[in-house]
Amino acid sequence: MPVRLKPKSIYYPLSVAGYGDIKMPAKVIVEKCTGCGECVEQCPEESIKLVNELAVINAETCTDCGICVDACAEEAIEME
Ligand code: SF4
Ligand code: SF4
Repeated sequence: MPVRLKPKSIYYPLSVAGYGDIKMPAKVIVEKCTGCGECVEQCPEESIKLVNELAVINAETCTDCGICVDACAEEAIEME
């Protein structure tokens, strides 16, 4: 059986444009996220939702404002 590693971050929807075109929004560190939902409440663009108790950021609408980074007590969101 092949071993599937847990991804370190997930984006929604997944962008598959050419590498040079990929925008790098805030990203969630899956291992740290507790699913508390605070970032969902504070994102002014409504770009975060909880999926299976994990915050998932919509890369298409995230404006890289950084509010969610400060909102997360678990330091589970970082920006490039
Ligand atoms: S605030 Fe942090 S811990 Fe809470 S859901 Fe968002 S990323 Fe996860
Ligand atoms: S960086 Fe700003 S727009 Fe992007 S997910 Fe976080 S709070 Fe929302």
